Amino acid sequence: MRALAVGFIQCCASSGVLAQHLNNNSYIFPEIHDDFIKDYLYKMITFDRPHKDDIFIPDTMGNIFSSTVMRLRRLQRFVGHGNFQILSFDDGIRLARMYPDIEAFTKSETRLMEMIFYSQAERYGFFTQKPLKELTVRIKKKDIARAPNSTMYLYKGVPFETFNRLQKQIGDQLILTSGVRGIMKQFLLFFNKAYKNNGNLSLASRSLAPPGYSFHGIGDFDVGKVGMGASNFDIIFTNTEVFKRLNALGYIKFRYPDKNLLGVRFEPWHIQVTA
Ligand SMILES: [Zn+2]
Repeated sequence: MRALAVGFIQCCASSGVLAQHLNNNSYIFPEIHDDFIKDYLYKMITFDRPHKDDIFIPDTMGNIFSSTVMRLRRLQRFVGHGNFQILSFDDGIRLARMYPDIEAFTKSETRLMEMIFYSQAERYGFFTQKPLKELTVRIKKKDIARAPNSTMYLYKGVPFETFNRLQKQIGDQLILTSGVRGIMKQFLLFFNKAYKNNGNLSLASRSLAPPGYSFHGIGDFDVGKVGMGASNFDIIFTNTEVFKRLNALGYIKFRYPDKNLLGVRFEPWHIQVTA
């Protein structure tokens, strides 16, 4: 990871490209101009494979990591998928303590979660800003509304209006595939991905933002085509009429465009709503 950071500085800093990239996350560099960038792009295309310099959960913490993942899964099962999306860290800890089906998070588990939350995701190769800076941040019920015909939520105001406008323009073929996500949900998504890949945090962060770093926490959302299931989160989504029409609208911004410098794979389904 350090190699990646150094590489960026060597290739970009003098021209100000790095600064531009950090300030403008939709910036796309104009040309592939050295081996470092080639390596980086290859890594983003093969995001689901381990790469050298990837950062892992230390072996000594393997058991704690695994018990944390299992507990988060039990918590999600207990509160239900709909509620879990907006569950705060504190409420999750409290519910786990109250219900024997989940059992309280141990000190080591909460310490691991705190450590992950407050460490710099740049270490894994993830380069966006961090919209949620506090572990204990809460999503206020009054700020969100259920999306039409869905168990998922959208922030009221621009996100809700943007989604409605998209559905009006593109039709019922366009669906919401992920809306508002709180800290606990992001922990589970990020940890599940790392867990399935031997604790590889870098690999996980190439397709899932670490907790605190997800813009789903403040207004972004994902869309897909009805009936496509998990394929909505695959590059083949770009072959659909829904994507083509979405792209043709002109006013839609994708949070993680192709060839972005954010350490994230191309996500043609993730709509950027907030700045
Ligand atoms: Zn997304």
